[in-house]
Amino acid sequence: MAEDRYTAIIIGAGPAGSTAAYLLAKAGLDVLLIEKGATPGSKNMFGGRMYSHALQRVIPNFWEEAPTERAVVKEIITFLTEDRGVSLTCQDENWAKSPSHSFTLFRAEFDAWLAAKAEEAGAMVACGIRVDDLLLDKGRVIGVRAGDDELLAEVVIAADGTNSLMAQKAGLREELQPSEVAAGVKQVIELSPDIINERFQLTGEQGAACLLVGACTRGMPGGGFLYTNRSSISLGLVVKAAELQRNQFRLNELLEDFKAHPQIAPLIQGGRVAEYSAHLVPETGWARRPELFGDGILVAGDAAGLVINLGYLVRGMDLAIASGEAAAKTVIEAAAKQDFSRQALSRYHDWLKECQVWPEMETYRRAPQFLENPELYTGYPDLIGRAVSHLFTVNGTPSVHLLTKLLNQLKESQMSLFKVAGDAWKGGRSL
Ligand SMILES: Cc1cc2nc3c(=O)[nH]c(=O)nc-3n(C[C@H](O)[C@H](O)[C@H](O)COP(=O)(O)OP(=O)(O)OC[C@H]3O[C@@H](n4cnc5c(N)ncnc54)[C@H](O)[C@@H]3O)c2cc1C
Repeated sequence: MAEDRYTAIIIGAGPAGSTAAYLLAKAGLDVLLIEKGATPGSKNMFGGRMYSHALQRVIPNFWEEAPTERAVVKEIITFLTEDRGVSLTCQDENWAKSPSHSFTLFRAEFDAWLAAKAEEAGAMVACGIRVDDLLLDKGRVIGVRAGDDELLAEVVIAADGTNSLMAQKAGLREELQPSEVAAGVKQVIELSPDIINERFQLTGEQGAACLLVGACTRGMPGGGFLYTNRSSISLGLVVKAAELQRNQFRLNELLEDFKAHPQIAPLIQGGRVAEYSAHLVPETGWARRPELFGDGILVAGDAAGLVINLGYLVRGMDLAIASGEAAAKTVIEAAAKQDFSRQALSRYHDWLKECQVWPEMETYRRAPQFLENPELYTGYPDLIGRAVSHLFTVNGTPSVHLLTKLLNQLKESQMSLFKVAGDAWKGGRSL
């Protein structure tokens, strides 16, 4: 092995890349983690909440040192129309018990912390450097090119995010089409911790996660989100990119409308916008997943399309971390045998199963298709809004029983009972 050849070069210091770098360095291997941002996380954004389980396996008790904001104990799902909102709230104090089920956090702080853990473990972390290309030898990936530098490695891990140019260059996937991505936009709105606790009925460092569907995306597939941080609220929208394009809507205009909605405005009233960011979310789905490994290369995190969006929960961080773990375990095994062939790297599939990535993606494989149903963003929020509102309306007109009220609303919605039952069945099997 040439002296200047790394065992692994990892492209991208997001959660997938830094987790892989941390575990490989801990195993005593030569690792180079390359990040184009000035610091890890400086270019990254997400909605606001990370589920703990994957990182807990990699760094037990991580929450004692990681920069997290609040432990989420309250989940709220809201169906929105222009003038109504129907919410389902679940508060579970057990979620706050150590280890907390999920945390809100900021990527700039969290990604920098995780990359620092990798560096501490012995990885070389190079920031402010963009990888421009892969080095290939007879179809095998043998390293990367960054500017004038050519760096060699036994294996390259592409953890370069949603549109992974590196996986494309390796011939493992095509460029994403607008139908395969959603566009996300977010603002961080500063408010005092006391105001946040009062408005969301929280105490101390308890957090809330709210997902909203319906009018917030003007009926387009997608949804709104709102997460409480210590002294700010992360609020934003995710909308199918193809629909935005088709309707010629601007995401920042939708966001301003969302903030002005009567259900949202009181929650952020008096707040100061401290941050604005936008990013793409892969929505390829497991059925259309890219190749996850090739000769001398593995693909992890968003680059591999590992995101689960079910409307009532959004997961990408935990899957990125778990796939980074799976990639590291594959490379550690390959290094022990000094065999980095495509055949040896195919063990990545087994490790993805072991790390619970594959089974999770498999379970929700039907979700992307189900979530394309336009009624989920128009007809159903409207039906739910009107039906629930009628339950509570007393206005002097003759009353009818609950079942009649519901059937009347269904009739008005022009959706048949058969269609609703069919969608409920499909939803139950997809989400
Ligand atoms: C609007 C929105 C809301 C979301 N909400 C949530 C949520 O609440 N919870 C959740 O779990 N997930 C959420 N996600 C998904 C989550 O953010 C991603 O799944 C996660 O960030 C994937 O991590 P990653 O390491 O694979 O990629 P990324 O975090 O995208 O990291 C990739 C890294 O690679 C670097 N890079 C790219 N190209 C190069 C190159 N050529 N050279 C060097 N470096 C490069 C980038 O700068 C970046 O640091 C959300 C995503 C969006 C967009």
